[in-house]
Amino acid sequence: MLKCPHCNAASFKWSEILKANWMFSTLQCNNCGKKSKITFFSRLIVVALTIVPFLIFGLFLSPFDNVLGTIFVAILIAFTGSLLTPYIVKYKTEENSAS
Ligand SMILES: [Zn+2]
Repeated sequence: MLKCPHCNAASFKWSEILKANWMFSTLQCNNCGKKSKITFFSRLIVVALTIVPFLIFGLFLSPFDNVLGTIFVAILIAFTGSLLTPYIVKYKTEENSAS
C-alpha cells in the first residue's frame, strides 16, 4: 500500500486514499503529520478508471433503453473503478522538490 513520501514509514489506509482520490487530493500522514499531494499522472489514472468507463458505458455500451438504468450501472462501474485507484496512484511531497 501507498507509503508516506516524507517519512517513508507509515502507510496510508486504503479508505483514506480512496477518499483523497475522490475529494481532497491531499493525504496527511499519521506518523510525521506532513501532507502529500496526488501526482498529475495519478490524477489521469483516476480519471481513466472512473470517468472514462462511466462515459463509454453511458454513451456507447448501454444495453438499456432506460436512462435511469444506464446512469445507475454507469455510476456502479465508475465506483468499482475507483476502488482500484488506491493500489495504483502515487502521492508526492507537497513542497516543490529541488529541480
Ligand atoms: Zn509521514
